[in-house]
Amino acid sequence: MDQRTVGILGGGQLGRMIVEAAHRLNVKTIILDAENSPAKQINALSEHVNGSFAKPEDIKKIAALCDVLTVEIEHVDVPTLKQVQRDYPNLKIYPDPDTIKLIQDKFVQKEYLIQNKISVAKSVAVDSDLESLSNVGSEFGYPFMLKSRTLAYDGRGNFVVKSKDSLQEALEVLKDRPLYAEKWAPFVKELAVMVVRSPEGKVFSYTTVETIHQDNICHLCYAPARVPDSVQLKAKLLAEHAIAAFPGAGIFGVEMFYLEDGELLINEIAPRPHNSGHYTIDACVTSQFEAHVRSILNLPLPEGFSALSTASTNAIMLNVLGDHTEKNKELQICERALSTPSASVYLYGKESRPQRKMGHINIVGSSMDECERKLQYILHADAAYEH
Ligand code: ATP
Ligand code: MG
Ligand code: MG
Repeated sequence: MDQRTVGILGGGQLGRMIVEAAHRLNVKTIILDAENSPAKQINALSEHVNGSFAKPEDIKKIAALCDVLTVEIEHVDVPTLKQVQRDYPNLKIYPDPDTIKLIQDKFVQKEYLIQNKISVAKSVAVDSDLESLSNVGSEFGYPFMLKSRTLAYDGRGNFVVKSKDSLQEALEVLKDRPLYAEKWAPFVKELAVMVVRSPEGKVFSYTTVETIHQDNICHLCYAPARVPDSVQLKAKLLAEHAIAAFPGAGIFGVEMFYLEDGELLINEIAPRPHNSGHYTIDACVTSQFEAHVRSILNLPLPEGFSALSTASTNAIMLNVLGDHTEKNKELQICERALSTPSASVYLYGKESRPQRKMGHINIVGSSMDECERKLQYILHADAAYEH
């Protein structure tokens, strides 16, 4: 389909699912990450690079081997990406290194969104001392969210400051990290939209979905979101508008807060496939992973590619997290999913640790009620499921 080799910085589950989509199109992919990482396990090649996407010398090694370079994680070394772009003028890097740079510092990302007239939660950069935090508390009120500007994922980098009494603990938990504070967003739901950007800058959005987090980690994703059509449309337009502001091509995940008064605020943007887009593998015409491969190779994205498979398609995605409370607890969930019609199990080949994302399950049905019944059966051994 395409003779070019795609290099992927990062070999976790997102990289693994990009590889799967690329394989179906005969597109060769090589991975930079630790040996035997999830994406390498399903891609038997000698050219993979063992190393880190944060290390300049390793990025230079993979850059020398590929025609297009992409990422499955935003925490990559951007100055080196810019360097290899100069060293190899024919190498395409998507998303654009400038976009990764704008996004990887969450406070810079917020400021950029504000410059582009996109609504975000009110934020302020803070120093790591009690006085600065106390001033934020007086201005924003409690609770407020203290966040690491960089290297955050699954809420590891966030601290909910409930009152003045928890300021000291917040500083201890997030010590040595660059910080910013965010006003509490009193959301009724969290929404997310996947958006694909073509190399010419055209943007296409997927359905608006609803994400439910537990302990800061995505637990469930409902597609489409259970909100009025007008809100779904507003979220899609907001997401498209936001991604239109970032140069380069590829898929982006846009996380949002839907507030009590109907307002939508962007929480954050991921310049890569996103957990809230896993449902697309089974519920959409083209998955988020294939859309990413197509966009970075400038392959066609024809009309309707991002739509749900049919007008009545509904889906729920359940994350399978490492759970050591009972022996093989997470695998019991997967076993029940295997015996559930129209449920698909994806395991990532990772060693199990509590709260680690080990896999996900996509449940597809012709109504959300049907998906919900299947979900209850999968989650609870004692729930009845009528076939
Ligand atoms: P991810 O794994 O999505 O990259 P992250 O570590 O970057 O996560 P955030 O997306 O900033 O973390 O926050 C995680 C969750 O915490 C959000 O999905 C939301 O549930 C909650 N949250 C974050 N910011 C706020 C806020 N300002 N007000 C209320 N809740 C918030
Ligand atoms: Mg994040
Ligand atoms: Mg997030």
